[in-house]
Amino acid sequence: MRIDAGLLGKSVIVTGGSRGIGRAIVELFADEGSDVTFFYRDNAKAADEVVQAATATSRKVASEKVDVRDASACAAAVERVANRCGRIDILVNNAGIIRDNQLAALEDDDVRSVLETNVGGVFNMARAVVPHMIVQRAGKIINLSSVSGEKGGRGQTNYAASKGAINAFTRALAVELAPRKITVNAVAPGVIETEMSQDVRDAAGDVVLSKILLRRFGSPEDVACAVWFLASDYANYVTGEVLHVDGGFKME
Ligand code: NDP
Repeated sequence: MRIDAGLLGKSVIVTGGSRGIGRAIVELFADEGSDVTFFYRDNAKAADEVVQAATATSRKVASEKVDVRDASACAAAVERVANRCGRIDILVNNAGIIRDNQLAALEDDDVRSVLETNVGGVFNMARAVVPHMIVQRAGKIINLSSVSGEKGGRGQTNYAASKGAINAFTRALAVELAPRKITVNAVAPGVIETEMSQDVRDAAGDVVLSKILLRRFGSPEDVACAVWFLASDYANYVTGEVLHVDGGFKME
């Protein structure tokens, strides 16, 4: 069996690559020899650190400050990547936010910003990238979902709705793009050790751990490996799937 994952020289876009899971994804693809461009929203210092660490080891990593809620900014940035790299092989829609609260306490902006980022951002990026992949008759799109897309969680109506939408979006786009030889899949992490989950881990870490079959929180690298698989040639016959990386959390 061939052991080359087929990622060498691939042009990859990762949204939200400056921290957490996105950073681990950027670094894994860069280690594979891919040409990676990641987008971030505000944190230029974190983004620069990722680029500098990659450059120091001769990896190909570039960053762009692109808010995924801004459709025209996404389109323009995707064109810049396409012009520079000649093609776009892989899109990882990773950027996401959380604004947990019980329904009655949610502000309008808590609902709007979560849906605009987690769902709107995925639409904006897919609509910018897919025309390139259609011309190429090749491409792989991987969306970051969450265990919350299937498993109910207190105070997560806005976030759960956004991730349930991502699961549905993934299946529908997989149907649409299969004739064009483009695969669309999602990865649904459980509780992963990043800034996003810090409050939950601080407030109820032991309770949550008791519900995770493998009795540990996930690492960003655990999730990056699943994204790597779905982007690799090993997953050429996989589309429309939501792969849970949650230590068995959704089963408890
Ligand atoms: P972090 O909060 O650690 O990092 C979020 C990243 O997304 C940052 O790079 C941030 O940029 C970027 N980002 C946020 N909003 C935007 C925007 N509007 N435009 C562009 N970039 C943006 O998140 P995680 O690494 O924990 O999560 C990554 C993905 O995994 C998300 O989709 C999340 O929903 C999902 N997930 C995470 C889980 C967890 O336990 N951590 C569990 C299940 C799913 P900047 O640095 O500039 O702010």
